[in-house]
Amino acid sequence: MRVSQLLNPTLREVPAEAEIISHQLMLRAGLIRKSAAGIYTYLPLGLRVLKKIETIVREEMDIKGGQEVLMPIVQPAELWQESGRWDVYGEEMFRLKDRHQREFCLGPTHEEIITDLVRGEVRSYKQLPLLLYQIQNKYRDERRPRFGLMRGREFIMKDLYSFDRDEAGLDISYKKMYDAYCRIFSRCGLAYRPVEADAGAIGGTGGTHEFMVLADSGENSVVYCPSCHYAANVEKAECQPQVIESADAEVPRQLVHTPGVKTIEEAAAFLKVPKTQLVKSLLYQGDDKVFLVLVRGDRELNEIKLNNALGGFVSLQLASPEVVQQLLSCGPGSVGPVEAPETLMVVADQEVALMENAVCGANKENYHLVGIMPKKEFRIDHVYDLRTIIPGEACSNCGTPLKEARGIEVGQVFKLGTKYSKALGATFLDENGIEKPCVMGCYGVGVSRTMAAAIEQNYDDLGITWPIPIAPYHCILVPISTKDAQVVETAERLYQELQNLGVEVILDDRDERAGVKFKDADLVGYPLRITIGSKTLANGQVELKERKGGETKLVPVEEAAARVKEIIKKALSF
Ligand code: ATP
Ligand code: MG
Repeated sequence: MRVSQLLNPTLREVPAEAEIISHQLMLRAGLIRKSAAGIYTYLPLGLRVLKKIETIVREEMDIKGGQEVLMPIVQPAELWQESGRWDVYGEEMFRLKDRHQREFCLGPTHEEIITDLVRGEVRSYKQLPLLLYQIQNKYRDERRPRFGLMRGREFIMKDLYSFDRDEAGLDISYKKMYDAYCRIFSRCGLAYRPVEADAGAIGGTGGTHEFMVLADSGENSVVYCPSCHYAANVEKAECQPQVIESADAEVPRQLVHTPGVKTIEEAAAFLKVPKTQLVKSLLYQGDDKVFLVLVRGDRELNEIKLNNALGGFVSLQLASPEVVQQLLSCGPGSVGPVEAPETLMVVADQEVALMENAVCGANKENYHLVGIMPKKEFRIDHVYDLRTIIPGEACSNCGTPLKEARGIEVGQVFKLGTKYSKALGATFLDENGIEKPCVMGCYGVGVSRTMAAAIEQNYDDLGITWPIPIAPYHCILVPISTKDAQVVETAERLYQELQNLGVEVILDDRDERAGVKFKDADLVGYPLRITIGSKTLANGQVELKERKGGETKLVPVEEAAARVKEIIKKALSF
């Protein structure tokens, strides 16, 4: 390719709309252009990067026995009604009607379509396991599309679905995909971490891991253990209960007037006790059920853990002050567990059960109780791990203090179980002729998000510093002058030679100043640059520079192409 013919509109200024580095650099380097919020066109160089990531993904899926299919973007409502998700998917789903007023959606994901396909085609255990995947646009009307390709409303995903005869088969498929994902992100040259994640009560039966590219701009918070392999999304990370011994002997139970005290902070200040001595009591409502939820006053309740523990409500939320008033005859600031109505289920974080001389709301407006012994003086129906972990706490696996990092979720592997196969009737006959539902898994890679994540990890002041395996071209040739015949002729010869060696090479043949060409080359981030100028040519040499590391070497013209080839070959071997 010649730069003179390339549609590569680079920008010198940082576009005001772009908050994070990858978004800024993708616009500045002329890789993408916006059509609407969260919807983009890929320009030639951007598309080359995307295709490279797709190729890596495809190769790794194929190695594991994945078979590529291509499913429709436009999906009929009936299938989603069968799975029960048409009504619960909510506003993220782009919905549309055809001329006959039949309802459709633009696929946000493809479990329904693939399960429909399999129920039609799979009859026998002999056809399993089956691993089917596609690389396809997905549509999600995200509440806050932002950060360019990071959170788009139209984006590209690889989604693979596994169908097995039993859980043991699913475990094997899951492991295959987990390993494939490790290879994919390593091959893309990314620093990543698989973390244990929350499967969501509505999601499935089994485990799930998210693959996080570590970067400060990441929307996810993860904790990891520096000494063992434990790593988890903070939403999921298991907490060890911490015991705080009360210094005082048993304090007698006492009702204390606490006028105007509404929050934990206010209660701690008013009663002059540490927050660790308070019980945070919250009423939660899921559908028409109400629960009294208790965590220690200094802890943050983790609503995801709570919802999982309670069995998974589509919507679980804090009960309104009206409901609180109705049930307990006080405001939310005075709620407590002592003598809570028998009909109210009380669920507590594991630490609450270990407290001594606790302080809690008295279920009487503007009153608290002090000197309370949990379990003895109030009922706890269920004890769970309900709080959010804090970095520095002990690893649940080995006890070492956990560290924290920000991560971009580029992929997720998920054991679905039989949720969809049962709902849609994707069954098979086993050796004994018994009909069973397929056991499913689903596995997504955000292909376009991976492109953005790669930039978040690979840039400097001048622009992008692509890892070689996903760079738009491997090498750019920059002739310093287009007037000097020897310079031009050498550049053309190298261009040919490199192409013959299978190196992806681009020639900046524009009649521009060298400074302009260098700036563009650095901004786009070609991993290797060969500069051809009359001065070095006088000694039979050209300059070879690696974008990352930045060292410039003079090499004999005859050796330049082979050197480049060598570097590329090494970087691509995996
Ligand atoms: P998130 O939590 O970031 O919204 P998700 O968990 O809803 O993502 P999945 O349904 O697991 O996403 O989709 C698989 C992969 O698709 C994700 O790991 C992510 O890399 C990518 N992805 C999801 N939503 C988007 C989006 N709006 N734009 C770009 N990529 C996305
Ligand atoms: Mg996910």
